[in-house]
Amino acid sequence: MSTTDRTLFEKIHAREIPADIVYEDDWCVAFRDIHPQAPVHILITPRKPIPRVGEAVADDQAQLGALLLAAGKIADQLGISARDKGFRLVVNQGADAGETVPHLHVHLLAGRALAWPPG
Ligand code: 5GP
Repeated sequence: MSTTDRTLFEKIHAREIPADIVYEDDWCVAFRDIHPQAPVHILITPRKPIPRVGEAVADDQAQLGALLLAAGKIADQLGISARDKGFRLVVNQGADAGETVPHLHVHLLAGRALAWPPG
């Protein structure tokens, strides 16, 4: 695959584009969003460049599970797991949801009260 075929997030994984990486394991890489929407705004990304959740296949089950397990570990690491704090996980797909990067990612948002329903 040529450099231009690779996603922005693959280039972050490869350290070709700088990012503040807060967590990584065999399945996932997580880094701070460049335009944070909350005091804590982390993108948890699969090493496999699945474009969006609706394009995941049965073989991606472990990869998808790893994203949520990573979210829990990152929340523990940041001290936001307690019920009196908390966090929100968001996955955007398509224009109505505001998807902009075609590499699946889970937004982890925290550090302030988050309105419900979301906008
Ligand atoms: P989406 O809108 O696709 O759900 O989320 C994409 C996210 O990627 C946005 O929140 C955007 O701020 C973030 N983002 C876009 N480019 C970069 C980048 O180069 N570095 C980092 N760390 N985040 C980025």
